[in-house]
Amino acid sequence: MADEVENTSGTYTVGEAARLIGIEPHTLRRLESRGIIPAPVRDKRGRRYTRADIEHIREHYGTRRRREAYTIAIVNQKGGVGKTTTTVNLAGAFAINGHRVLVIDFDPQVNATSTLGISWRDVEYSIADVLGTTPDGTTKRLSEIIVPLPHHPSLFLAPSSIKLAYTEMSLINRPGRDTRLDSAIEPIRKEYDIILLDCPPTLGMLSFNAMTAADGIIVPIDESLALQGAGQLLATRKECADIGRRRVALLGALLTRQRTQTAAAEVIEELTKEIFGSRVFKTKIPERVGIANSTGMGRPLVFTDAREADVFFSLAEELEGMIHATK
Ligand code: ADP
Ligand code: MG
Repeated sequence: MADEVENTSGTYTVGEAARLIGIEPHTLRRLESRGIIPAPVRDKRGRRYTRADIEHIREHYGTRRRREAYTIAIVNQKGGVGKTTTTVNLAGAFAINGHRVLVIDFDPQVNATSTLGISWRDVEYSIADVLGTTPDGTTKRLSEIIVPLPHHPSLFLAPSSIKLAYTEMSLINRPGRDTRLDSAIEPIRKEYDIILLDCPPTLGMLSFNAMTAADGIIVPIDESLALQGAGQLLATRKECADIGRRRVALLGALLTRQRTQTAAAEVIEELTKEIFGSRVFKTKIPERVGIANSTGMGRPLVFTDAREADVFFSLAEELEGMIHATK
């Protein structure tokens, strides 16, 4: 109850305000330090929130509605470049920033699902049952498999399962095989602000379906040979834009797992700019033990007070600028 934490002065501490709004104190501080919500007045006891401040934040929170979800596929046919790490943390940052977000795990390796804390054992129906058929021969609607996530009330997941690998093969002989995901998403587009698609490390039917469903794509590039396939990936992007109904805009290459000031990092950055031109995100994701360790926690780093999470908020803000320019 709101009044439980009311105190004699009629103002509230960060902890009290966060509890009244229903978020973590570090999330409240992070939103303020990034200028997303105004900071309250300070007196000698520190930040003090008034009732009006709290109402204002509540109004802002979770109300950044778009008419239709902007769909972003995170693609690269190379594994280990940070696709899943980017997907789950970006999704969390968007949710914290006030958007309603759906993650679709579109990789049979189920990494986004497990990184978001959902065990494959607990997944009754997955995206494989939406694109293919369940064991009893029926097909699920996407809305029937989506689960809420405990980390944030505006964050949702369409889980994957290893069955998706078989679904990929069975798609080959089905009509509309390239755009089945786009069709599956269509009925729920109005229910979310942002949909993120975590793709497998292949350029097969799944990545193809993800791209034809996407308004834009992000291409994570790490310091390895991830650039080798970039030409092929960009050609596939164009093909998907031609076949499907969506723009499949190249939002940008994202430099990931950067170890600062190595010669390799500089070379990769140069090459990336040669291939992607101005379409390289200003935000770069550094290689950090904290990011690596977060994979097994079942909770994306953005939901902790870790400093390493800040880069994902920077990336979310760059993207918000780009997305805002569209309907
Ligand atoms: P992909 O989805 O492209 O295969 P992942 O996001 O699963 O890549 O990352 C592969 C591995 O690298 C994971 O174990 C992850 O924890 C680790 N990793 C990803 N990004 C970083 C980073 N910025 N710093 C340290 N480790 C990272
Ligand atoms: Mg992955």
